[in-house]
Amino acid sequence: MKPKIEWIDYGIAFTVEDKGTRWIQINKALLEYPDLYKIALEHEMGHIKRNGYLSNILYDIMSSWKLSNLKFLKFHIKNPRSLLASMPIYKENGKIVYNISSITMWLMLLIAIGVSVWVNI
Ligand SMILES: [Zn+2]
Repeated sequence: MKPKIEWIDYGIAFTVEDKGTRWIQINKALLEYPDLYKIALEHEMGHIKRNGYLSNILYDIMSSWKLSNLKFLKFHIKNPRSLLASMPIYKENGKIVYNISSITMWLMLLIAIGVSVWVNI
C-alpha cells in the first residue's frame, strides 16, 4: 500500500491524520538528499501503520537511533525552515500530525550536551 505523499517546504516529514485517513508530508528539499529522504519516508510509513499516541511515541523513541543522523543536522542548517514545527506530535485544524523534525532536533541537542559533559569529565 502506497500512502499519498504531499510536498511541503518546512520541517522534515510528517504523518498527518484527518478523519481516519493518513498521509505523509515530506519536505521537498529532502529530494536532494536521497538517503535522508529514504530514512524519513520509511519512518513515516511506520507511523501510517500504528494507531494511538503511545504506540507512535514508542515507535519514535525506538527508532531515534536511526534518526539521530548527523546529515539531518546538516539538512537543518542548510534548510532553516526545516526547524519550523517543534512539537513531536500536535494537532492542527483537528488533524493529528506526527513530526520527526523535533525528535531529531532534541536528540541532537541531548547528544551535544551529553558529549560535552562526557568530554569535560
Ligand atoms: Zn516519528
